[in-house]
Amino acid sequence: VTANRDQPREILAIDIGGSRVKSALIGSQDDRWQLLHRFAPVAVAERSFAELQRIVVEIVAAALAQSTLDGGIGVSTTGPADAAGIVLGSGFFEGYAGASWHRILRERFGSRVPVVRVASDGRAAAWGTYLEDPQAKGRNVAHFVAGTGIGGGMVLGSQLFDGSHNFAGAFGHIKVTAAMTPACSCGGHGCVEVFAAGPAILRHAAGELGRKPGTLTIAELADAARAGSQAAQGAFRDAGHWLGRAIGSLVNIVDPDVVTIGGGIVAAADELADGSGVNWYVDAAAASAREAALPRIAERVQIHRAALVNDAALIGIAALVHEGPGHP
Ligand SMILES: [Zn+2]
Repeated sequence: VTANRDQPREILAIDIGGSRVKSALIGSQDDRWQLLHRFAPVAVAERSFAELQRIVVEIVAAALAQSTLDGGIGVSTTGPADAAGIVLGSGFFEGYAGASWHRILRERFGSRVPVVRVASDGRAAAWGTYLEDPQAKGRNVAHFVAGTGIGGGMVLGSQLFDGSHNFAGAFGHIKVTAAMTPACSCGGHGCVEVFAAGPAILRHAAGELGRKPGTLTIAELADAARAGSQAAQGAFRDAGHWLGRAIGSLVNIVDPDVVTIGGGIVAAADELADGSGVNWYVDAAAASAREAALPRIAERVQIHRAALVNDAALIGIAALVHEGPGHP
C-alpha cells in the first residue's frame, strides 16, 4: 500500500481509554509490528479534556526525547473520530468533542511532530486483532473491547468497517433488555454497557463482597477471584452473561468467522496471569452468546478471548498510521 515497506520506522501509539492512557513505541518493518518500548499507563483522574491534553503532551514529549517518530503518531481514542481525525465526542471527557490531536500537538511541538492519525479505540483494536491475533488473522472478525465502557469494531472482507458516518462499533449500546435500567453513558436504557462494563461489574461486586460502593477496584476484584472468591468470579460471570446477549445479537446480523473479546475486564478475569486458563468473563459470554444466536450461526461462529488482550489498539493504530489515510 505504501512505499518503504522494508524501511524500519518508529511509531508512537497512544490509546486513550475512559480512565487511563496507554502508549508505546512500535516498530514497523515488512508488515510486522513490534512493541519496542512501553510507557507506564497514566490514570486520567479528573476525567477532563484539559487533563487529558496535559497527559498526551507529556507522553509525546517523552517519546520525542528517545525517538524521531519517523513513522508518525497514532491516537486510538474512546469515542468516534471522523475521517479527518476530529474527535466527535466521548461520554468520558467533557469538552472533548471537536478536538484535533494533530492541531493540539502541532501547536505545542511545531514541525517536530509528524502526521497524527486518529481512530476510535474499538476500530483500532479490531484492526490490530485482524492483523496480529492468530485466531482472527485475515478472517471476518467482530472484536469487542470491555473496559470502562464497551466498544468494538469489525473487519469484514479485509476492510475495517467505519460506517457511513464513522460511528460504527458502538457495541456497548446494543440493547439487552427492554426493562428500565439505570441510565447508560449514552443517555439511554437497557444497553449492555450498563451490565457488562467495569463500573457495572464493580457496583454489583461491591455489594456481593460486602464493600462500600466506589471502594472496590478491578485489580482488587481480579485478586479476589484468583484467590477463589465465588462472589468475585460470579461478578465476572454475570457480566459476561450479559455481554453474550449482545454478541448473540451482533453475530445474528453480521455472521462473522470469529468474535474476539479483549480489554481490561478480560485481562482481569483471567484465572491465570498468562491468559491460558479459565476466563470467567469470556467463558460466560461465549456460552450465553451461543444461546442468543440462531442455531446455524451458533454452530459456526468462534468466540475467543483476544490474544492481544490489552495491546490490540496500540498495534492497530500503529498499523493505521503506517498505512496512511484511506486505509484498506
Ligand atoms: Zn448506551
